[in-house]
Amino acid sequence: MKTPAIVILGSASLPVARQIKIALPSAVIYGLENRTTSADQTYSNFGDLVRDLFSQCVPIIGICASGILIRTIAPLLNNKWQEPPILAIAEDGSAVVPLLGGLQGVNVLARQISEVLQVSPAITTTGELRFQTALLSPPQGYKLINPEDAKGFISDLLAGEKVRLIGEAFWLTNSQLTFSPQGKLTIAIVGKDLQEIKPNPTCLVYQEEEAKTGQLIIVGTGPGSAEWMSPEVRSVLLSATDWVGYKTYLDLVEYLRKPHIIRHESDNRVELERAEMALNLAVQGRSVVLVSSGDPGIYAMAAAVFEVLEHKQICEGSENRQDACSTVQSPYQNIEIRVCPGISAMQGAAAMVGAPLGHDFCVISLSNILKPWEVIADRISLAAQADLVIAFYNPVSKDRRWQLEKAKEILLQWRKPETPIVLAKNVGRPQQEVKIKSLIDLAIEDADMRTVILIGSSQTRLVKQSENKQWLYTPRHYR
Ligand code: SAH
Repeated sequence: MKTPAIVILGSASLPVARQIKIALPSAVIYGLENRTTSADQTYSNFGDLVRDLFSQCVPIIGICASGILIRTIAPLLNNKWQEPPILAIAEDGSAVVPLLGGLQGVNVLARQISEVLQVSPAITTTGELRFQTALLSPPQGYKLINPEDAKGFISDLLAGEKVRLIGEAFWLTNSQLTFSPQGKLTIAIVGKDLQEIKPNPTCLVYQEEEAKTGQLIIVGTGPGSAEWMSPEVRSVLLSATDWVGYKTYLDLVEYLRKPHIIRHESDNRVELERAEMALNLAVQGRSVVLVSSGDPGIYAMAAAVFEVLEHKQICEGSENRQDACSTVQSPYQNIEIRVCPGISAMQGAAAMVGAPLGHDFCVISLSNILKPWEVIADRISLAAQADLVIAFYNPVSKDRRWQLEKAKEILLQWRKPETPIVLAKNVGRPQQEVKIKSLIDLAIEDADMRTVILIGSSQTRLVKQSENKQWLYTPRHYR
């Protein structure tokens, strides 16, 4: 499919156009000149642009009334095999209407767009609704060899005929089609060679195309709730073939999982193995999402992936010293890797109480599993001396209890006992609990594995909004 065009008539449509680009990052936004600023391209005449795009078979996503699109294109309609997908989207994003291009995957586009706009697409194709799969436009990686036979085939299916399946495809086995070895109709999945199966009016043949480039997208789902997950991450999760991650994190997004997405869950401790497994799945051509909570680059899986990438590099032309390599070969050189950010626990915690991270701050993990305690103790001491606000991640765990007490001792050498601190547990989750206390009152029992702790600087202070409401903030200046 060619790169879609999003056509808008005025600036009011830009927010929806940009949301659509989250689902279709390569799409180009065309804005009417003098009516729109900051579109990717401008045009002067709507009819000329749409007809031109249509004749080049470019998918058209019009943020306008469906009638305008229909009237503009109507004179050109003469061959349904060559129509690009055409969709009308309501200016406020409340309706996604696929109009034409069923054979070119208009419903697939409508679903992708609807997911980011969080509405139901107006799908009207009976076969697709009934069978929950589009026989005319199969998912990426499959090609229908005999589309000319599909119309009669689908009519027979709608009349109740059963289907015999030769070969295997997840999108068919997960559909509502009625399969039976005795079926009068046949669907065959074939590889590169068409083999002996001959397409005919009672046998649709799908050819598996060459494996596409695999992807590994490393995402952070935010601290917990759906509102704090970015639309990009949501869209990436929905379009994956595989999810990899720690069980608790996968459970947090399970409500988004479609039946064909495979879940690979693991223990929290085996980060490098998990990263390697995700990379290897991508090498096989899968679209893999590696799931972390919060932000994937903050004490999470993104760094683990790059560590595996580094260790698996094969360095040629030197004694394995990276900087002296003449060429670097990697088993992962052909896959696409991308990192999608998320809201980290400290940001969620800060937002709950005001703006404690409003000035310089630093982040320290109290876990001494991957680094020695002396390094951590030094950092706490230096951060306290530098008067930085400090966010502590991994403050305690079942087997690590004393580190937080020690951290408190070090802090009290430099910070006043009444320094405000924030104890934020399960931020953004139903069991959220956020408390403000004084440093001197910090107790181990206040924290668990799902708590992030913010330690105020000498400037961090409480401000009253009313008798019952106060906020915590760190001013942006020293006076
Ligand atoms: N990538 C995550 C951090 C993972 S390290 C992020 O950016 O948020 C795990 C630590 O993060 C936990 O021990 C806890 O300190 C903190 N944490 C993660 N989610 C949290 C939440 N919802 N509420 C409070 N703290 C959380």
